[in-house]
Amino acid sequence: MRKIIVQKFGGTSVADTDKIKNVARTVIKEKQNGNDVVVVVSAMGHTTDYLVKMAKDLSPNPSSREMDMLLSTGEGVSIALLAMAIQAAGYDAVSFNAMQIGIVTENVHSKARIIDIKTDKLKKNLQEGKIIVVAGFQGVTPDGEITTLGRGGSDTSAVALAAALNAERCDIYTDVEGVYTTDPRVVPNASRLREISYEEMLELAHAGANVLHPRSVETAKQFNVPLRVRSSFKTDNLGTLILGVDKMEIYKPVAGVAADLSQARIVVCDVPDTPGQAAMIFGKLAQEGISVDMIIQSYARKVSNTNDIAFTIDSSDLEKTKAALEELKDELKAGDIKIDENIAKVSIVGAGMIDRPGIASTMFETLAKLNVNIRMISTSEIKISCLVDKEDAKRAVAALHKEFQLESDEIAEVKGDLPNI
Ligand code: ASP
Ligand code: MG
Repeated sequence: MRKIIVQKFGGTSVADTDKIKNVARTVIKEKQNGNDVVVVVSAMGHTTDYLVKMAKDLSPNPSSREMDMLLSTGEGVSIALLAMAIQAAGYDAVSFNAMQIGIVTENVHSKARIIDIKTDKLKKNLQEGKIIVVAGFQGVTPDGEITTLGRGGSDTSAVALAAALNAERCDIYTDVEGVYTTDPRVVPNASRLREISYEEMLELAHAGANVLHPRSVETAKQFNVPLRVRSSFKTDNLGTLILGVDKMEIYKPVAGVAADLSQARIVVCDVPDTPGQAAMIFGKLAQEGISVDMIIQSYARKVSNTNDIAFTIDSSDLEKTKAALEELKDELKAGDIKIDENIAKVSIVGAGMIDRPGIASTMFETLAKLNVNIRMISTSEIKISCLVDKEDAKRAVAALHKEFQLESDEIAEVKGDLPNI
């Protein structure tokens, strides 16, 4: 059986017709390798931003159904143009939108999840030897309503298609050359990782590394789809392979360092030390659709019988959070609510830190030497995050990157041969 490769090209890779021709060449090359090819594309360049801007010019709060109707048009343009470019180069190609294929999502606008992908049409066209070009980012509800998967969602479309088709691999072609040990704009000697596990990639994405839509990595992990992040412009470069942690040879404690500069911290002071208080606060936030990241409850003060509950959220949810807490105020019987936006979350991530003592203390010592004050700490099995002042974030990242020896390619790259996928 022929292998299926899913390729995804983001907006910058299809920003103009010359770039679309370049994409067509990359697609055809994969076809010439003897593989069946399904290509997922995003809207051209900044089309989606432009569409959002027009909507906001007309209405401060456009309905989410009409937003999806509008935003889904961007990908419609790029699929047809890419199919034409492939045909002009002498190969058979056909473009499909999500409705034509049946990329079925839940009935939620602007951030729908894919629940099913029909593969009959795709398989039939692949059998006929066609290259298939699919619109990313969009879906259709069981009742035929158009939905979108959230900004950056084409990555998730591509991975979900790869899972549904049992593809050999999903290649995400983008304007960076792979996944780096940290943001190369912050630390110029950041190095490209040859491999990283789904788990580490997810933690890095949540810690502020914006390479992939986090849900695409979750989907890849769930269905065990090998993912490769690689450059659209330097196609000889194999980029970074993302795969299961069990398939990796891990010998370094930390794989990457990331900073998230878009968080805000809320402290609810003097919360009565009685059962149900945290449930009340976070239940309310959940109801409002606000995701909470770090949470810390302090040790109860004996005299007042209260404690403080601090947490962080994405800054874009700050207004909603303030309103939600305001509504709770009487019921909660807490004291002041303090808000701080001058913060950043700095994280080190690595599957190799499991069972390896001393990683946290090394992180804290590194920050101490810089005289950076840590305001909150949270950990997972493979991540340690510290909340610091915003202005300290860059130098903290640079120092941690150095301390964990991530700058040299030889050290950052996993030893041994690349798996043959
Ligand atoms: N065009 C959509 C966006 O800009 C989806 C994507 O690019 O992945 O968010
Ligand atoms: Mg993107």
